[in-house]
Amino acid sequence: MERLVDRFGREIYYLRISVTDRCNYRCVYCMPKEGIKWKPMEEILTYEEIAAFVDVAAGLGIRKIKLTGGEPLVRRGLSNLVSMLKSIRGIDEISLTTNGSLLKLYAEDLKRAGLDRITISIDTLNRDKFREITRFGSLDDVVEGAKALNRVDFKNSKINTVVMRHINDDEVVDLIKFSMDLGFDIRFIELMPTDLIKNWKRHFIPINEIRSLIEKEFKLEKDDKKTNGPAVYYRIGGIHVGFITPLSSAFCNACNRIRLTSDGFILTCLGHSDRVGVRDAIRKGDREELERLIKLAVFKKPKEHELLSENIHSSMASVGG
Ligand code: SAM
Ligand code: SF4
Repeated sequence: MERLVDRFGREIYYLRISVTDRCNYRCVYCMPKEGIKWKPMEEILTYEEIAAFVDVAAGLGIRKIKLTGGEPLVRRGLSNLVSMLKSIRGIDEISLTTNGSLLKLYAEDLKRAGLDRITISIDTLNRDKFREITRFGSLDDVVEGAKALNRVDFKNSKINTVVMRHINDDEVVDLIKFSMDLGFDIRFIELMPTDLIKNWKRHFIPINEIRSLIEKEFKLEKDDKKTNGPAVYYRIGGIHVGFITPLSSAFCNACNRIRLTSDGFILTCLGHSDRVGVRDAIRKGDREELERLIKLAVFKKPKEHELLSENIHSSMASVGG
């Protein structure tokens, strides 16, 4: 089987696909209140076009897929895409990252379609704060969505929490207890700068500080759990607690991924604006050209992100986080 290896010897086998730039929430760190300028529908890849891309990428060595957005579940019929991707030879895992708001409607369909795992983003357990952070969101919907995962027997579910000083840093222990009740793992993520967070430094909190807060209540036991992502894991009781530290300790040397945007660009790195357009090649059905472009994107992968040197992406919603 072919393998995609970049100039720095990193094997690239993980593809994050943003299926839409649209979202029903407007999280303060991700989207402006009025939303972003949505990409025109004719520029958005159809499910068939995404599957055609994945078919070629799988032939080159992509094995794991993450569906993300925007909010992936606002795009109609997402479980159809899951079924299509599931049948592609070489793809051995498909997971989803969602704000959870629509899971109570779709968890069962997604399970039936063969989705392997789901991560839900929850930053707070306080209803008012939840609405302030997400602007439109209802915590109750998301909690119901999380419970639906257990009802339909999704395994290895996770919670993602972006930790922000003065906003939700007082809730890390409660969020761990909440995850324990559900039997989910939880990962704490450092806030990344975007154009939206003018006072990013005021709210940025390094993971070491979060760890200290947790250690006042729990003993963290190092665990060698490995996932497709950059989290470092510890064990508390029956669950894993992970830390994702894009800023305080860059993990670029272990990077294994490329990203496909909803309008058909491969992003070589979350912390760079470099992109390779593949929509025309997909629409022409030109497999050879697609192979060349995927290899080119992998070749162009930078050694490290530059998240701190400039605000690379105006919104994470357009790149899938
Ligand atoms: N809508 C889905 C969700 O919220 O999970 C998927 C897309 S969202 C862009 C993916 C992840 O990126 C979420 O966990 C979100 O919290 C995270 N994210 C967005 N903006 C971020 C930022 N500025 N810093 C850190 N994480 C961010
Ligand atoms: Fe939407 Fe997810 Fe961005 Fe929040 S983080 S605005 S839910 S895409």
